[in-house]
Amino acid sequence: MSRYLKITGAVVVVLTILGGVAYRAAPVQDALMRTGVAAMLGSAPETFDGLQIVVCGSASPLGNNPDRAQACLAVVTPEHFFLVDVGARSPMRIAQAQLPMNRLTAVMLTHFHSDHIAGLADVNLASWVAGRQASMQVYGPQGVETVVAGFNQAYRLDRGYRVAHHGEGLLPPSAGPMKAVTFQPGLVWQDDDMTVTSILVDHHPIDPAVGYRFDYRGRSVVISGDTNASDNLFAAAAGADIVFHDALARDSLDIMQNALAKAGRSSFAQIVADVSDYHADTRTLEEAATAAGIEQLVLYHLVPTPMNSLTETMFLRGLSDKTLLAHDLQIFELPPESEEISIR
Ligand SMILES: [Zn+2]
Ligand SMILES: [Zn+2]
Repeated sequence: MSRYLKITGAVVVVLTILGGVAYRAAPVQDALMRTGVAAMLGSAPETFDGLQIVVCGSASPLGNNPDRAQACLAVVTPEHFFLVDVGARSPMRIAQAQLPMNRLTAVMLTHFHSDHIAGLADVNLASWVAGRQASMQVYGPQGVETVVAGFNQAYRLDRGYRVAHHGEGLLPPSAGPMKAVTFQPGLVWQDDDMTVTSILVDHHPIDPAVGYRFDYRGRSVVISGDTNASDNLFAAAAGADIVFHDALARDSLDIMQNALAKAGRSSFAQIVADVSDYHADTRTLEEAATAAGIEQLVLYHLVPTPMNSLTETMFLRGLSDKTLLAHDLQIFELPPESEEISIR
């Protein structure tokens, strides 16, 4: 080894040791944290002038992957912010994406399976703390009032503690409980630029279950919720720019079911088998999407939840390159009156 390399190596070792020592020093830690917090506070995303969809959860309950929260998609424009379902871990994704909780328009539920509603209380609290002055509205088909009443009751004491601690000025008590809005399938919400329509889907025996179509300044996105491939959904989705669709990877599911049965875990194997008849087999979706004139098909609510790149690849088996698998924190941007879709 040359003398030069020896000296360089020694310098690197000394700097590493000094760095390690400094990292344990309180003033250095404080300075690093100050810089980090300031960077976080100063990095609010710019408002996109158009229709933006943020993936705040792409998983189903089957399979545990900490990189994928359960079902949640955010539909954001300069004037609107809707959350479609708020499954477990999605409040963390919503915070990471720095979504504008101070101006949450409403939560739209597709149905009331736990993986679509588990985050309701955290989303309610986060938007209340962010300055919401009226009750958070939770839209859904028949049954939403039962879900909302239950959450409101379970978190009644929590709301009381927080108002007592932070004061009514910061947390207006009337804005604490959520408000259920029950609808029949059809027009759900409308203003000059945005129309939200709900669509009956096939998630039997969970009835009713709906998907949603959002139309905004010449652009459109459809979110299926949990469903088999449904003629009703694809009819309502005709000509949409993007459809986010529930998706089941049959080959992966079969391997899981066989492995569970072989391992003697028969009740879990039975659950896996039951699941397969009320989600959409990926192989049925592309043709239906193309026939309906849909520009971009994106698979989300992935059954089973992919754990790694191998199972992600298996999910897209037999599909064209054009169909995408959603990832948490992915953002789809649709400028108004255009055909452009950018993904980041
Ligand atoms: Zn479901
Ligand atoms: Zn689900």
